[in-house]
Amino acid sequence: MSLSELLDEFEELKAKSIDLNLTRGKPGSAQVALSDDLDGILAGNYLCSDGIDARNYGGLRGIPECRELGAVLTGYPAAEVIAAGNSSLQLMYLTVESIVQYGLAGSNRLGISKRPKAICLVPGYDRHFSLTEFLGVDMVNLGLTDDGPDMNELEELVKADPAVAFIWCVPKHSNPTGCTYSDETVRRLAALPAIRKDQKNEPFFVLWDNAYAVHDFGEARVELASIHDAAKSANTEDRVVTFASTSKITHAGAGVAFVASSSSLLAELEQRLSVQTVGPDKVNQLRHARFLRDRSGVETHMQKHAAIVRPLFAAVETGLREHLGNTSLATWTLPTGGYFVSLDVSDGLATKVVNTAKSLGLQLTEAGATYPYGRD
Ligand code: PLP
Repeated sequence: MSLSELLDEFEELKAKSIDLNLTRGKPGSAQVALSDDLDGILAGNYLCSDGIDARNYGGLRGIPECRELGAVLTGYPAAEVIAAGNSSLQLMYLTVESIVQYGLAGSNRLGISKRPKAICLVPGYDRHFSLTEFLGVDMVNLGLTDDGPDMNELEELVKADPAVAFIWCVPKHSNPTGCTYSDETVRRLAALPAIRKDQKNEPFFVLWDNAYAVHDFGEARVELASIHDAAKSANTEDRVVTFASTSKITHAGAGVAFVASSSSLLAELEQRLSVQTVGPDKVNQLRHARFLRDRSGVETHMQKHAAIVRPLFAAVETGLREHLGNTSLATWTLPTGGYFVSLDVSDGLATKVVNTAKSLGLQLTEAGATYPYGRD
């Protein structure tokens, strides 16, 4: 195409007054509508399986049937799951705040003699980075491969620098590259905290944000090895903390969030939660447990999401391939789950691409946002 033809096409697109916001992993209206039966599902029956009335205060660990749902999403036994409020990010904040300011599961508080550090796999989830920065933790970048972090490099980093206190992991359909960690990577990550197991002042935690645990849309389901089993084998259960939520399963922002770890670590988080709230929204927990039911209920529901998003991802891929495939201007990921396509363009072009898209009514995540401090 000549430059003038391209400029004409640009003006035609502009005239269409497109209004698309792809800045976050936000489900579409058809996706959230899949869960509209949450409304009314209780039909006046508020009794939980243990006989507790969901309409009243209490029950910080969550209701039994919802913790069972958390067990499906996290791969932990229900006894090692807390079903909490509407946001797993809030549980992550509580966990990092606990690690840094109070100490968690036998570790001392950090940051007294030196600022703690976190390993951030890049590109990664921008809110992990803003949370980390907000809580006074410095960030160290480590590149993400198709199998997860480069484990040799990571093990060296953790051994060499006692100030490194935790790592953020989005192990399945990672945000934003879509990669899933290999079995060997999961095993080595779970073993990593053992390097500092008995060092109270220099703990190392693995924060396992499995936000896309059941969000497959490819031909076959992607299997992630169990971090619970790996941590058990490595005897590091109280240094691995797993998070999940129904945010991208039912109604985003109106779902249920889960944290799973050793019983002693959960007891400490529960104690801190008890200062913040008298109890979670058990009515919403009960609605979710009755709506999604069990593993097979979750799978059936997620297949409906997959049917909606699969053609949308395919359209993005077709567009990128047709327009950029024969150029050396860009490369992009081909996810089989999750919510993101990560597009890399030639040096110096990213901000221009984002701004040009914005001028056409297509909002993309800011260039560099998936790197700590916005520096890519
Ligand atoms: N973790 C990751 C990796 C995410 O991509 C998101 C949302 O985009 C969240 C957590 C937010 O989860 P929640 O709604 O449970 O706070």
